[in-house]
Order: sequence, then C-alpha cells, then structure tokens
Amino acid sequence: MRRYLLPEYIVERDDLKCTRCKICVEQCTYGVHNYNAIKNMIESRSELCVDCLRCVLFCPVNAITVRRNPNVYKENYHWTYEFITSIKRQADTGSALLSGMGCDKQNLTYWDKLLLNACQVTNPPIDPIREPIEIRTYLGGKPKMLEFEFNDEDITLGTKLGPCLCAETPILFAAMSYGALNLNVHEALARAAVDCGTYFNCGEGGLHPSLYKYSDHTIVQVASGRFGVDLKYLSVGAAIEIKIGQGAKPGIGGHLPGEKVSDDIAMVRMIPAGTDAISPAPHHDIYSIEDLRQLIYALKETVEYTKPVAVKIAAVHNSAAIASGIVRAGADIIVLDGVRGATGAAPKAIRDNVGIPIELAVASVDQRLRDEGVRDEVSLIASGGIRSSADVVKAVALGADAVYIGTAALIAMGCTLCQKCYTGKCPWGIATTDPEISKRLNPEDAYKRVVNLVKAWSIEIKEMLGAMGMDAIESLRGNREQLRGVGLTDRELEILGVKMAGE
Ligand code: SF4
Ligand code: SF4
Repeated sequence: MRRYLLPEYIVERDDLKCTRCKICVEQCTYGVHNYNAIKNMIESRSELCVDCLRCVLFCPVNAITVRRNPNVYKENYHWTYEFITSIKRQADTGSALLSGMGCDKQNLTYWDKLLLNACQVTNPPIDPIREPIEIRTYLGGKPKMLEFEFNDEDITLGTKLGPCLCAETPILFAAMSYGALNLNVHEALARAAVDCGTYFNCGEGGLHPSLYKYSDHTIVQVASGRFGVDLKYLSVGAAIEIKIGQGAKPGIGGHLPGEKVSDDIAMVRMIPAGTDAISPAPHHDIYSIEDLRQLIYALKETVEYTKPVAVKIAAVHNSAAIASGIVRAGADIIVLDGVRGATGAAPKAIRDNVGIPIELAVASVDQRLRDEGVRDEVSLIASGGIRSSADVVKAVALGADAVYIGTAALIAMGCTLCQKCYTGKCPWGIATTDPEISKRLNPEDAYKRVVNLVKAWSIEIKEMLGAMGMDAIESLRGNREQLRGVGLTDRELEILGVKMAGE
C-alpha cells in the first residue's frame, strides 16, 4: 500500500562542506544517512528522520541542517498538521499511535502563568551568597507537635519520629525503569543522587545488584507487575514507592516487549529472558483504599517500619479525594504525577488527553489535606514536566514538599526530546537497551551533567528564596501568597489558590 505521509523533517547537507567522513552514517540509529560509493556522496532519506539532531551535533564541519518540512498541508485551525498526520499514519498501520516522553500541548502548562514575589523596601531580601538559605527537605510524615523530656540538665525529644528521607535539595530523580533505560543511565542517576544528597527512584523494573552500593540514595518501586520485588530489594532501598499510576498514561499498564528482555534485565526483573514484561493497569490486589492500606502496612512490616512508604498516583479529576484516602491508608509520601509526565512509550491519545496539569493537582491536594488537618502526616512530591528551578519553586509554593525530575535529567544527559523512546533506538544511548547503542552514553559524563544541573537549580532556588526574603524552603511550602497569576480565569485562580497579578 502506498503511504501518503509527508516527511516531517527535511535533512539538508552542504555538499561543499561535507568531507565524506561518514560520521552521520554511523551515528544515525534510524538509517537516515547512507554513503553512495559510486557517486562518492552522502545521501539522506528525510522520511526516516525523527529530528534527534545527533548527526547535526556530531558533524565535524557543521554541514547538516534538519528543518521542519515546509510542505505542510493547507492551513486549517481545526484539521491541524498533527491530526491529519495521525489519521494517515493510522490508516497506514491500523495501530494505536505510540509516543515517547510527555504530553507536548501548550495549553496544559500553568507554570508560565504564575509569577513569584520579591521583597522591596519594607521587607528586606536575603543575599544567598552572604547568608545561609536552607533547602534541605525531609520527606515523610511529621508529628503535629513535639514533646520534650526534661531531665536534670538534659532535654531529650520525647516524640517518636517516623522514618523520613533527608534530601539536601528538593529535587529527586523520578522513577524510570531498568529496561526502559539501560544500566548506564541508572548508574549515572544513582551516582548523581549520592553526590547531590538526593534520591534516585529505580522504577518498576527492579534494581541491578551493581547499584546496591548506592542504596542509601535509592527509592525502590513496587508496581503492578511486582518486577524484582523480594525481601532484599525492599530492604536495600531508602524508601519504598508503590506505583498506582503515572501521569503519562493514567489508568494504563506497561509492556516491555520480550525482545528487550535480555538476560540481565530478566535477572533483575525476576522473569524469564525473552518474555514480555507486562505491568497490568491495576494492582490485582488493590481495589480500595483498604486494600492499599494492607499493602502499605505489609511493606512497612517487611522493613520493620524503618523506611517511609510512598504512593504514586497520576493527577486525575478526583486526586484530592484519593490523596485524602492515601493519607488515611498510612502512606508517608504522596507522589502526584501530572499530565505532562513522561514515559518511554504511551498511547498518544491517552498521553495527550487523560489526566490533569500538576499545578492544579498539587494546589487542590495540598488544600484538601490542610482543610482536613492531615497535611503534616504526609509529604507531597510533584512530578511531571518540571523544566526549571522556577518550576520547582512554584511547585513548592503551591504546596509540594519536593519535586521529581525525569525528562530534565535525561535532557541534561543528552536527550533531545525526539519522542521516539518506544522504538528502542534512542540515538543518545538513553532509552535503549541495545548493547551497542547503550555504549553511546558515558555514565561518568552523564552523571557529572546531572550533578551540574541539580547544583545549578539549587543555587537558583536559593536565589529565588532570598529574593522573597525566606531563609528556608520550608517557609515557602504552600505559601501561595508568594505567587500571582496572569492570564488565568477567576476559577483557575481559585483552584490554584493564587491572586491575580496586581492584587
Ligand atoms: S558527518 Fe558531516 S562531514 Fe561527515 S559525512 Fe556526514 S555530513 Fe559529511
Ligand atoms: S530519550 Fe532518546 S529516544 Fe527518548 S526522546 Fe530523548 S533522545 Fe529521543
């Protein structure tokens, strides 16, 4: 059947500059570039290009330009290029469309419509270069009040504190599984977590034994497939996270095809090599808050109440009510993953249309838990499309204790957001388990880049706190007075709990 798809990108080469070194041929995992020995020319098949820009960045003479195909369909605000292309692709294949990374729809971002406050005249700012600003964040349940015991000369804490994570920065690395990513990426994230004094979440695919040495900075995940879960796995992590849902595909399970389940991945996931690793949409033993409570306490019991247990849900319409139930089920941390949360593979229809923005979810969950007087019993981690230190600060002001970053960490390593993670051919050696392509990611280099990113954001967070006259991030949590909105409706402002700029 003839295909009627226009190439999305056009690859152009300056033939006078090109030295025929063939680097672009070697670097492209999609087979775009080929060397024609008869003509002594490099030829490109634009229709295969995914705009990963690997060839552009590796060409030693800057001979390659990739640009969007100007031959778009006739302009139509209803039948946009995206809809026409999707229909044609589905007419070609009869398949649901997949996409990698998160939802890319502009109108689902609220961060850019929120502005932060700064001190002027009557309330002095703090200079973070001269004065300490505390961004250390404890994650877990906190007591409502502290009791002290007074002995003759000594004062001791009488209140028994529950287990908490202590992060030196409110930025943690989101769950991304071994299988979706390769071991080089996991190692880079684990080492970065140690260096930054934060935590890396190994995701639902288990934890490779070679990474057990980073376990003090590792959150182990228990998802519906229960891959890699045994006593050692639970005991080795600093915290345990139960994954109920994720923002990129709420209500949807996962599927790692058998051809990607190598011997090593099979060993870590505790499944036979070459078999499909299927994560069911629900946990087959959880159909109520009471069921969830049983699992939370089974896990707590298993690790003798020494580690906090988190529950991760996708941000959906009734997140606030669900979060309220999760607190009562005994979770120490709630992770809210918004509609822009990323994944290696999600049905495009689900990714772009199911779930709600994290900004609205965090604000409504924080408010509900405050109204019910249970906010201090849990910590709240916001996740899903956090792009900058300003997004982190705004998330905290809306009510989060900390954030997870996933995509941002991968971008720091080299990802160019081509959104083709599901092909397993990630040209940057990240979302791939192909042994040859995986070698492209140098874990040493990747680890340093992620550390630099977190350090840079942490400096900026302190600068923004200082500008607001705050010397501790704790003072900002849920402090929506420090936010103002622009371009938002009254109802949106009300849900966010934020005043209009100028008020
Ligand atoms: S990498 Fe650049 S110089 Fe080398 S063959 Fe490709 S276009 Fe030519
Ligand atoms: S991880 Fe790789 S495949 Fe996925 S978006 Fe980034 S560059 Fe593309």
